[in-house]
Amino acid sequence: MKTARPGDLVLIKTASETLEGTFLTRSELLDKNILVLKLPTGYNIGIHRKNIKKITTLRPAHTPLAPAPKAQHNPNLPTIAILSTGGTISSKIDYRTGGVHADYTADDFCAMLPELSLIANITTKKVLNIMSEDATPADWLAIAENTIDALRKADGVVITHGTDTMHYTAAALSFLLKDLGKPVILTGAQRSIDRGSSDAFMNLLCAVTAAAQWNSREVAICMHASMNDDYCHLIRGTKARKMHTSRRDAFRAVNDTPLARVYPDGRIEELAPAQPRRDTTPELRPIDKHVSLIYAHPNLHPQEIELCLKQKTKAILIAATGLGNLPIHTKEKILPALLKAAKKVPIFICAQTPFGRVHPNVYSTMRELSILCGAHYLEDMHAETALAKLCVAVTHKDPLTFMRENIAGEYTDRSLDDHFL
Ligand code: GLU
Repeated sequence: MKTARPGDLVLIKTASETLEGTFLTRSELLDKNILVLKLPTGYNIGIHRKNIKKITTLRPAHTPLAPAPKAQHNPNLPTIAILSTGGTISSKIDYRTGGVHADYTADDFCAMLPELSLIANITTKKVLNIMSEDATPADWLAIAENTIDALRKADGVVITHGTDTMHYTAAALSFLLKDLGKPVILTGAQRSIDRGSSDAFMNLLCAVTAAAQWNSREVAICMHASMNDDYCHLIRGTKARKMHTSRRDAFRAVNDTPLARVYPDGRIEELAPAQPRRDTTPELRPIDKHVSLIYAHPNLHPQEIELCLKQKTKAILIAATGLGNLPIHTKEKILPALLKAAKKVPIFICAQTPFGRVHPNVYSTMRELSILCGAHYLEDMHAETALAKLCVAVTHKDPLTFMRENIAGEYTDRSLDDHFL
């Protein structure tokens, strides 16, 4: 039997009646054989598939946004490529169905925000349309490939992305893009575009401003710096972290200071030195997903370590407690499992506290880990950044040297007071 799409206005004929209404997305908790219809009265009813004789679509659901009128190319403005990948910034609530869809693409952003054409000549590409919790190393690679491609013509790239894992992607791009000469700015939104409190437009405006005018070749995240609509921060891609589930100013520089403020009126205020632009042709580094991350906790079991080896991991990263500890003196026999793993793959230690750095020599536990297991302590590199860097490092002949090198500002020399919130 022909079925309908969520949002379609339909006529459903059963043995006893004919019902008109809007076809809704079925909640995942409902039986698959139940179709849900919103009646003109506003009530939703469920109809069992076996009772339906015929469904007729009276009006299809989707009314696509009118395409952006093509702005004239302005030879005095830089060219910026906007690559869309999904997330809240691409989403809208469908009030008929109550569902949220990642529907908007970079093209739609230009239609909604014509001011962008005063800042730059904009080119657009939809690279992905996913929620960022689903982004994998393969997606990081697709974004990196498209960024390199876009940079052949553009003076900077803006990537619109879900916020959940934006900092992982920013870190991954920082390592995947070798010899970057221009800024690559990731932005997103904590509130979808169709809400009055949406942060999407200011974030996008500031991100395009940064990509067009910032004298930098950094991969950076551009998001609201405060709860107000006053300015955004540019945060180095290897030092950014989502620190709040829902606030518009959720992203913070961790173990670092923000690099700059960007105002929606086009001003950029530099707060810390960034690597300046240069004329280079970026190249792609390879990536391998066979990397494991273990979170140290009081109930850690050696099987968690053994499982990594079964999954053919090429390196194990441990987000350790405090200065870099693991529960190796409990009866759980973590140390033998680690020693066994260390014979096969390198082990790296970073902090699970958001701030601060790990150190291999302070307590005897760490000495045991670093001396017996040869665990490498990653100073003040965040776990998320270390995971992304390891995925690139394991493709190198000498992953350890790659991990030790400060490639994209992932290590700072000293922890300063203003590096802490
Ligand atoms: N969880 C979704 C994502 O990260 C939506 C959250 C957001 O974009 O703010 O893509």
